[in-house]
Amino acid sequence: MIKESASKSLAEQPVTVLKGVGARSAEKLARLGIVSLQDLLFHLPLRYQDRTRIQPIGSLRRGDQVVIEGEIDLAEIKYGRRRSLMVHLADGTGSLFLRFFYFSNAQRQALNRGVRLRCFGEVRNGPHSLEMVHPEYQRIDPDQPMAVESSLTPIYPTTEGVHQLTLRGLMQQALERLQREPEGLVEWLPPSILARFPELNLAQAVGFLHSPPPDADQQLLLAGIHPAQQRLSYEELLAHQISLRSMRAQHQSIGATLFKSEHGLKQAFLAALPFQLTSAQARVVAEIEWDLERSQPMQRLVQGDVGSGKTVVSAMAALQAIAAGSQVALMAPTELLAEQHLRNFSQWLRPLGIDIGWLTGRLKGRPRDAVVERIASGEIQLAVGTHALFQQDVVFNDLGLVVIDEQHRFGVHQRLALREKGNRKGHTPHQLIMTATPIPRTLAMTAYADLDLSVIDVLPPGRKPVVTAVISEARRDAVVERVRAACAEGRQAYWVCTLIEESEVLQCQAAEDTARLLAEALPELKVALVHGRVKQEEKERVMQDFQSGAVDLMVATTVIEVGVDVPNASLMIIENPERLGLAQLHQLRGRVGRGSAESHCVLMYHAPLSANAKQRLAILRETSDGFVIAQKDLEMRGPGEVLGTRQTGEMQLRIADLVRDQGMLDEVREAAEMLLHRYPDAAAQLVNRWLGERVEYVKA
Ligand code: ADP
Ligand code: MG
Repeated sequence: MIKESASKSLAEQPVTVLKGVGARSAEKLARLGIVSLQDLLFHLPLRYQDRTRIQPIGSLRRGDQVVIEGEIDLAEIKYGRRRSLMVHLADGTGSLFLRFFYFSNAQRQALNRGVRLRCFGEVRNGPHSLEMVHPEYQRIDPDQPMAVESSLTPIYPTTEGVHQLTLRGLMQQALERLQREPEGLVEWLPPSILARFPELNLAQAVGFLHSPPPDADQQLLLAGIHPAQQRLSYEELLAHQISLRSMRAQHQSIGATLFKSEHGLKQAFLAALPFQLTSAQARVVAEIEWDLERSQPMQRLVQGDVGSGKTVVSAMAALQAIAAGSQVALMAPTELLAEQHLRNFSQWLRPLGIDIGWLTGRLKGRPRDAVVERIASGEIQLAVGTHALFQQDVVFNDLGLVVIDEQHRFGVHQRLALREKGNRKGHTPHQLIMTATPIPRTLAMTAYADLDLSVIDVLPPGRKPVVTAVISEARRDAVVERVRAACAEGRQAYWVCTLIEESEVLQCQAAEDTARLLAEALPELKVALVHGRVKQEEKERVMQDFQSGAVDLMVATTVIEVGVDVPNASLMIIENPERLGLAQLHQLRGRVGRGSAESHCVLMYHAPLSANAKQRLAILRETSDGFVIAQKDLEMRGPGEVLGTRQTGEMQLRIADLVRDQGMLDEVREAAEMLLHRYPDAAAQLVNRWLGERVEYVKA
């Protein structure tokens, strides 16, 4: 059996060839995307623990994960809110508490004064001093010194039923095989690229990362920049790049309807606008115009900071398709935004004789049937709505262009699903995606390698930056007075409750309480409330009242985040801003500063602020440049947060890090192009190695 498998590559051998892996564990491993031995070996450590040194307790700081050794000088059960066993451990340089919430009698009796322990755990701030909660520990016999680990300990991503120690055991077996048959991991990189990594070959790099030798440069390893890590990070980034580029190429090979640029409708539209396009808007309009004149589907991402005027740009694109007799679908992530688009587009395009339809999940029964029918007949030229536009039974007569607003809510999978949607007889609609989340260029070119990029980098004239203040909740009364003063001048304000509770019900409850208290404190103002559980009709009415000026103060949860446009609103209060990401705060703040008056944003935090939160809020106070903010957000919180894909796990890299490894990205892009052209098999194998599971999911 072993003999037979020796000639196969590790990618062809299932994990069940390992000792102790039967059908049931194989199933569990599959949940981690591990099917073959190659998959197992590319299940790389998330990070390492340093158990190679015993740290003096006196030198510990909060957050450290360390090994310590000391003598128990006190052990007792504390009865507070929760019963816990507290063990005081000292080593001559300092002392700390070990805290156990769960413990057996035997455990308790063994942890006596005078006993020496070696512990591993994370150091936290306790009520009185530093502590470790539920550390791993071992009793030490002072006469028999025990060695510490000789190399860094890998920590693997796990899943239910597959434990850290299980993975380490399996990895050990897989590594032994790898040592016997190092050619089992096929080297897919061509020699010209490999020359860049002379230090070690693929098998050595993989082996090194799973069990770094004692003399490994631990500084480099912990920082993620050891040559072994760089070698694999490069390969992983390359695989992602290849995957997105080949998806793009595949899509490009489907034809699209070309729309000759037509000037009548566009001129009429521009002439009726109360303003002129900015130079940036005009440039992006021209880029789109050029795309639409081709018979390959446009796949363009337009990035523009909040308020940069993306809507008008999308209207120009829509006109080009409509003038050529095609239909356009405009999709927004929320009903609120879809409604706003409906208002704008109706105002702009109905005078030009264009028929606009409206479809969201809320529309039911006869009215819905009627809209679906008018979409199918082609009568509706522009359909505005939410994802409901793409439900099974909605069939367009001739969909030529899909506009997706606020793309950061849509991941790669949705992007692909949408592309499929309009496919007909070898034709696919052009696609225009708009986002106000300014994504740093390097990140965008990696995460969105399947798209062309346009940037609206100029704001319409006359916009003044929003003056931002960071104020403690203790000064709430003064903040309420600011609202009173602003509204007395005929302005309007937002009060955003970003909530502490996880549950939506509680969040809405808190927003309701806030609205009630504000209404009491400001009896002369008309206060309204919008949150996720307010009925749609009510929400719509409230938004309209706010837009018309009938409401002075809008209390809201973060549902107000994207796109809402009320120029007379010039003050925004954001409660607990420390809970949100910078990009999201920037989005929220973008709701004000849209008119001619100077606008203000008050970030009202709950003391005490962590150093990190302080720094983040300071960034917001100091700059209003979305790209600067996004770059900082990326550095401080990672790409998942910035791309809004943390929950979906998309773009989750195993070893590469888009911030740390951004220096490689240009080279990786070129290499991807080269492999796709000259080594298509190797390109496919690399994608399979790093993304196998996920790519299949995309196809499904
Ligand atoms: P966003 O890019 O955030 O979607 P919008 O398209 O909602 O921005 O535009 C924000 C506001 O700016 C709207 O009131 C819009 O009418 C206005 N606007 C757009 N372009 C211009 C321009 N060139 N000059 C003046 N105002 C503009
Ligand atoms: Mg918008």
